[in-house]
Amino acid sequence: MTDRQRGARVRVALSAWYRRNGRDLPWRNTRDPYAIWVSEVMLQQTRVGAVAPYYRRFLQRFPDVHVLARARLQSVLKAWEGMGYYSRARNLHRAARLVVSRFGGQLPRSPEELMGLPGIGRYTAGAIASIAFGLDEPVLDGNVTRVLARLFRIRANPKEAVVQRKLWGLARQMIPPGKAGLVNQAMMDLGAVVCVPRVPRCPACPVRRYCLALARGEQSALPHKDKPRPLPHETVVAGVIWKGNRILIDQRKPRGLLGGLWEFPGGKVKRGERLTDALVREVREELGVEVEVVGRLVRVNHAYTHFRITLHVFECRYVSGAPRAIGCAACKWVRAGDLGRYPFPKANHRIVEMLRGGGG
Ligand code: SF4
Repeated sequence: MTDRQRGARVRVALSAWYRRNGRDLPWRNTRDPYAIWVSEVMLQQTRVGAVAPYYRRFLQRFPDVHVLARARLQSVLKAWEGMGYYSRARNLHRAARLVVSRFGGQLPRSPEELMGLPGIGRYTAGAIASIAFGLDEPVLDGNVTRVLARLFRIRANPKEAVVQRKLWGLARQMIPPGKAGLVNQAMMDLGAVVCVPRVPRCPACPVRRYCLALARGEQSALPHKDKPRPLPHETVVAGVIWKGNRILIDQRKPRGLLGGLWEFPGGKVKRGERLTDALVREVREELGVEVEVVGRLVRVNHAYTHFRITLHVFECRYVSGAPRAIGCAACKWVRAGDLGRYPFPKANHRIVEMLRGGGG
């Protein structure tokens, strides 16, 4: 059987299965391109189950692209708070402004124009074009890659350019004219609920008859995976700096990791440096303020995608100096009860909860 014939049979069996078993997800009850775009951006790095409540709240708060374009970045980050990968929120906000200014508030239809917007790569462009606009465009994400690698027994590393090209070609081949949205979503669902990463549920798979990996008993070994590397670890300090009943917080610069979010001042500990010395130094460098460390508050372990941190949090007393945004975008004194108005990174949430619980 050629790849083309295999693809055609898979597509028929998969479409029938999807009509009966497709997941009922909130963003599947709409053809609104804006809503589909928001859902696809959220789904780029967050699980379906975690996205659903964020998606509903986000659309209530920003029901269309005009409202999103007019919103302040901080409100958008606040609505995104806890989902991580905040560059997605910043890009979505920037893209909304471009959609309004360049395209009169209508999301463009073609993948090329969609990919010209911040935060929209080839996968997201294909998903929007096929699901919202019914164009014959394929998608290729982690789930679809896994399904295709197994169905067609592709053993080379999917990260290699030549393998990527092959996978995109197969994904395109699967699409019957006018049905891309259905087939793409069927592939996504198959990868999410049946052809799952470690132990795929082959006995329940609607396309098992055509699966080359299953025929060879190689399904758990595909797709090829790089060996996981241990995540580097960093020690970080942060200070809850009190002046009367107010606390000093600062906003990270707009670009880079956690850009635009607020946090408690501090930073990385240098090799051989005492934690409290590092905190006093970081606060001085970041804000031009002198503080005295008065006690330990909490220790938080947190893992990002490429590294882990241990965050040591101390309570501090403000000593002198007018806070200036030297190593940050902004800073301000706030009451503990008002901390909830600002978007904080997840590693800071426990501190915020402790302080809000304690009043102020
Ligand atoms: Fe995946 Fe198993 Fe179905 Fe093959 S038979 S596509 S490995 S679930």
